[in-house]
Amino acid sequence: RRCMASLQSFKASDLQIERSTNLKPKPDSENLIFGKEFTDHMLVIDWSKDAGWQAPKIVPFGNLSLHPASSSLHYALELFEGMKAYRGVDNKIRLFRPRENMQRMVNSAERCALPVFDKEELLKCMSKLISLDREWVPHSTTSTLYIRPTMIATEPSLGVSPPGHAKLFVIIGPVGPYFATGAFNPVRLYADTKNVRAWKGGVGYAKLGCNYGPTVMPQVEAVTQKHCQQILWLYGEEHYVTEVGTMNIMMYWQNEQGEKELITPELDGTILPGVTRKSLLELTRKWGEFKVTERTFTMKEVMRAVQEKRIYEMFGAGTACVVCPVSSILYQGEDLQIPTKDDGANLAVRLYNELNDIQFGRTESDWVYEI
Ligand code: PMP
Repeated sequence: RRCMASLQSFKASDLQIERSTNLKPKPDSENLIFGKEFTDHMLVIDWSKDAGWQAPKIVPFGNLSLHPASSSLHYALELFEGMKAYRGVDNKIRLFRPRENMQRMVNSAERCALPVFDKEELLKCMSKLISLDREWVPHSTTSTLYIRPTMIATEPSLGVSPPGHAKLFVIIGPVGPYFATGAFNPVRLYADTKNVRAWKGGVGYAKLGCNYGPTVMPQVEAVTQKHCQQILWLYGEEHYVTEVGTMNIMMYWQNEQGEKELITPELDGTILPGVTRKSLLELTRKWGEFKVTERTFTMKEVMRAVQEKRIYEMFGAGTACVVCPVSSILYQGEDLQIPTKDDGANLAVRLYNELNDIQFGRTESDWVYEI
């Protein structure tokens, strides 16, 4: 019976803990570079087609040893998630809608033939890890603990086929505020008409490494050649607006019918279903103060709205920053100026505060999961 069960999922009740005897000094939480610092422990769970899921293990943070033919290294059979733990004003540690990340992780696994698992069990194992390394969660309301669940195929074979071996692991580490200055700095976007992030029939909806590696070079070009901070990813002949950097895009405007509207592209398979995106849509729909729409829109619509001064604000939405205001878009050699909080509608600031208050325990909400 146990064996059958382990084919479907590991269980948090089987968790084995090997404590590190060599605890690292904690970094100064004011000078953190994203993704460089890791805690003392990590969670590792192995899977094989024949034996199913092994007991989850928390072990001292360290290198993995992989067969050089591992299919994650050759064919990008791998996925990841990105989420945060927040130390609240009451000193309690909270996750924000973690079940959304667990569901997205399972969707990603299904798309690249990696094994699925019981989402609640992974959440419980992750909570144990965070709890063990809880002193690493910054005592701060600007810095947080970043959580990186990952799954890689470890099949030791060069065949392009469903992996018979996989490794799920979770590493965690403290990160600083998204905006180095701590302030809410608007970004200048380069609307890229050459490189495409995701396409119809592709895997843009899944958090697979293969969606991210190829964006690095275009991002470098946007910074060094176009003097922009982020890419506005477009799609198709019509130049549909899709995402900004690694964030969903939202536009608050007066639409062509003269209505106030918050608009974001619909989830048509090319868009990563962001937890922040979903939360901002639910929040603003609950307010009922303006129309909230998920639909595809084009650069032509954006240009016309800029000319007619119908845009109130535009912002990226994601776990890293909650909201990231856009100040301008460089599109086909033309600079489109977008109003920001000083001259805009202040919606981004309001949304930031709403989510931030929930995440840091200033507002009670069933969106949080206490560790
Ligand atoms: N789009 C992309 C391409 C992303 O990588 C992310 C980050 N996961 C997002 C949007 C925002 O998603 P979330 O709100 O879940 O962080």
